[in-house]
Amino acid sequence: MAAKPRVATASLCGCFGCHMSLLDIDERILQLVDLVTFDRTPLTDIKTLGDCDLGLIEGGVANAENVEVLREFRRRCKTLVAVGACAVNGGIPAMRNQFSLAECLRESYCDGVGVHNPGIPNDPEIPLLLNQVHPIHEVVAIDYFLPGCPPSADAIWTFLTELLEGRPIAFPYTQVHFD
Ligand code: SF4
Repeated sequence: MAAKPRVATASLCGCFGCHMSLLDIDERILQLVDLVTFDRTPLTDIKTLGDCDLGLIEGGVANAENVEVLREFRRRCKTLVAVGACAVNGGIPAMRNQFSLAECLRESYCDGVGVHNPGIPNDPEIPLLLNQVHPIHEVVAIDYFLPGCPPSADAIWTFLTELLEGRPIAFPYTQVHFD
């Protein structure tokens, strides 16, 4: 029997809503487990990444650790997919791009409403923030873009099953209209 495709997922600068939408496929998760083997993903809590057929990336690129994780996914995954608005175009986290990083840090940790004990954290274990939040295609080459905030569970299911079965990906209109 041929080995099942290996799938990895990661959340960079996102809210985990896209992963939650993946879980919203409900009982179809059992079919998915029959179709693929999960590698590194928050769904299994596996922390190390092996060679994979498919990588799904949620979230934009906001810090040095995001860059490192994304580059490793690109190295290890034959096909890499931007899942959701944050990965596709920066999404909500990229709203900070209209301000300087210094302004964002001052507002969050010093001057903002409700701040007690003002002071910008500088623990070396905290990943270095980038000046701007980037969509993932600005850092590595991406094979597919799956828009939505988040993409619906049905759209994720259509995308995964068609891709894994080698068919052209064709979404029904109900899965891709946002009006
Ligand atoms: Fe969350 Fe929306 Fe970004 Fe997905 S696209 S990580 S749901 S904010």
